[in-house]
Amino acid sequence: MDTEQQPNFRPTTADFRWEAVAHQPYKQDGSAPFKDISRQVLFHEDNLACELRYFEMDAGGYSTLERHEHAHAVMILRGHGDCLVGDEVRSVKQFDLVTIPSWTWHQFRATDAEPLGFLCMVNVVRDRPQLPDEAELARLKSTPAIARFLGAG
Ligand code: MN
Repeated sequence: MDTEQQPNFRPTTADFRWEAVAHQPYKQDGSAPFKDISRQVLFHEDNLACELRYFEMDAGGYSTLERHEHAHAVMILRGHGDCLVGDEVRSVKQFDLVTIPSWTWHQFRATDAEPLGFLCMVNVVRDRPQLPDEAELARLKSTPAIARFLGAG
């Protein structure tokens, strides 16, 4: 770990873009289902043991439906949409806060009208996400609100 941490000032360069921050397609390995989403790692701080990322979905886009041991702390930064957390579907809008606990199914979806962007804080060291199998997907879809939410994609 680098204990000689230097100040690092990186101005914003455009709406939801920052100097020296790579704009990456989400999960380039293509192993998980997602649509029209990008990732920018704003901070990767070993001294804090955390990363802060900015994810943005185009209108109609969505993140991967997944769960994992590590938790997320999310702030919606742009637009509005819906999220599934556990067995609950919620509408979210700019500046709302969402905590995603360990081993909780989660997915974010933009509306068809505008992009949805959010900040996501996460541990630097973390486990690999799990995807739902057919049985788990069927169990989730037995809740009507979740079936409607997942049917949107
Ligand atoms: Mn996740």
